[in-house]
Amino acid sequence: MSKLLLCTGNGGKVAELRAMLPEAMELLSLAEAGLPNDLPETGDTFAANALQKARFAFERTGLMCIADDSGLEVKALSGAPGVYSARYAGVAKSDTANMVKLLREMEAVSDRSARFRTVVALVDDSGEHLFEGEVRGTITKEPRGNNGFGYDPVFLPEMSDLTFAELDAKMKNAISHRGQAVWKLVRWLSERSR
Ligand code: IMP
Repeated sequence: MSKLLLCTGNGGKVAELRAMLPEAMELLSLAEAGLPNDLPETGDTFAANALQKARFAFERTGLMCIADDSGLEVKALSGAPGVYSARYAGVAKSDTANMVKLLREMEAVSDRSARFRTVVALVDDSGEHLFEGEVRGTITKEPRGNNGFGYDPVFLPEMSDLTFAELDAKMKNAISHRGQAVWKLVRWLSERSR
């Protein structure tokens, strides 16, 4: 059975990927591989951060390693908060403080276009591979909905009247940036194992 190490401290991501992977693959968490939960992430792009984490783990374990990095890019803010999405309003990583700051920065902005992006990096003996997902939308004037996390209550995906936080998890995953990147990875893995 081939082993795959998912470089995240987020148990939700581990469970989500486990449910999507071919049965012949065994998914390990960082703890199961004897690595710390918070791997270094100092790049200035999503791809650099995802690769940094996957390389770090591959160099120490020799296992097939995957890592992801995601965030929100707002056109009127020249792509901010981008890789700083989690700590936009400070190191406390508060979802509410981040949203309050975003809405304040955008008070007088009429072009409210934004996108969520995810890059998943896979590093193994065969080299380095990247899988990307993106969902376009707009930033609302006020938060709406209680589901999800992060900027979900202020993100209205294209072709939807509901924000990410008003959609249920299944609907969100079907269209989300992370869902798309992970599906590309899963397809690639199953084609390679044929
Ligand atoms: P991560 O790379 O998946 O940990 O995401 C980094 C940060 O981007 C999160 O802490 C959130 O602030 C934001 N973010 C990423 N994906 C989403 C999402 O699906 N909904 C809302 N916020 C997100």
